[in-house]
Amino acid sequence: MTTARTLITGGRVLTMDPATGELPRADILVEDDRITAVRPDLDVAEVSERIDARGCLVLPGFVDTHRHMWQAALRGSGADQTLDQYFAVVLNTLGPRLTADELHLGNLLSALGALDAGVTTVQDISNVDKPTGEHTDALLDALTSSGLRAVFAYGHGTPDDARRVRKRLHRKDGLVTMALNAEAGSDESTRRGWALARELDVPTALHIRGGRPVSRLRRLGVLRPGTVFIHGTGMEPGEMGLIHDSGGALSVAPAIEMMMGHGLPPFAAASAAGLRPSLSVDVEVAAPSDMFTQMRAAFQIGRFATLHGHAGPGAPLLTARDVLEFAILGGAEALGMADRIGSLTPGKQADLLVLRTDRPGVAPAHDAIAAVVSSMDRADVDTVLVAGRTVKRGGVLNHPGLPRLLAQADDLRRRLAIR
Ligand SMILES: [Zn+2]
Repeated sequence: MTTARTLITGGRVLTMDPATGELPRADILVEDDRITAVRPDLDVAEVSERIDARGCLVLPGFVDTHRHMWQAALRGSGADQTLDQYFAVVLNTLGPRLTADELHLGNLLSALGALDAGVTTVQDISNVDKPTGEHTDALLDALTSSGLRAVFAYGHGTPDDARRVRKRLHRKDGLVTMALNAEAGSDESTRRGWALARELDVPTALHIRGGRPVSRLRRLGVLRPGTVFIHGTGMEPGEMGLIHDSGGALSVAPAIEMMMGHGLPPFAAASAAGLRPSLSVDVEVAAPSDMFTQMRAAFQIGRFATLHGHAGPGAPLLTARDVLEFAILGGAEALGMADRIGSLTPGKQADLLVLRTDRPGVAPAHDAIAAVVSSMDRADVDTVLVAGRTVKRGGVLNHPGLPRLLAQADDLRRRLAIR
């Protein structure tokens, strides 16, 4: 089999690799699904695809560690909702009424929206009811056909259906892998949920807010490394330290936490516990699906909390570099993928972005990191590669069925308005 070689030339490269840092001008060689070289003036004879990145920034893809992807079917319908209203309307009323085809459409729209914005990995916390295996397969087929790197965090189904998914997603290094969305309930149901995750040998992810939820998991004897704890707002002192000590990770959804009433996004508490948080979109019924929005929300509320005394004594002032690291490295670490993604390092998977700096809202990009965090949005995302495959090029998303999909989305809007 011949090797597919993509050469990205002349870009200003933010490797996010502590050993190499920022390279003012470098080439990146991608062979099949991997990065094989990052340095100036690479001499490569036979290239399948050449991408001119002069005047652009090149950096690793963004990682979203918590998104309920099916809800893209309901995009923007809950912008004014509080958390209680969201539970009542989206989770308990609309979600259970969606057909398998509509769930497929939601997951696929979410995946393509992610790729368009340079989000190359998403953990799909699949918290919609799965009355049949057909519903599950529809959600999963959308992920596997999209080209996105994804973690399908199975929830709201049955143990046997979860076992079936595990057989399908048997490879731990596949483009789509499995986790279990095991929320804490009664002692008995919590133990059962986490026992299933151990049996399937997949990571767990769950939402927590307030009180001592991590201590409780420890008391129940279920706490395990690799768990993604979502939100973590308003918890008692010591809980964040327990996440750190147990080998867990934190997913902060700053925009949603501020809008819906979860509480102050816990950047200061995470920092004090030595945890690097990851960022997440959470619900597209109310939040945009790009990480520029999430980075800016994190940057704004994190600095507000410190500057106005809401972050506790000695809390550090977040920097643009901090939030860019949350959006890339923090995500790779949270999902247990830091050995494969999260930096432009030879040997790692080729998940990378070319971002334009020659646009009226961005130029002159004096500081590469500040340009990404403070000036850019999805319109500046020129090219996106996932596992070496070009999914967006020249600002255009490469998905053959896109026009039909968007027509289906409009049909869905009309149907739901009737309901
Ligand atoms: Zn959530």
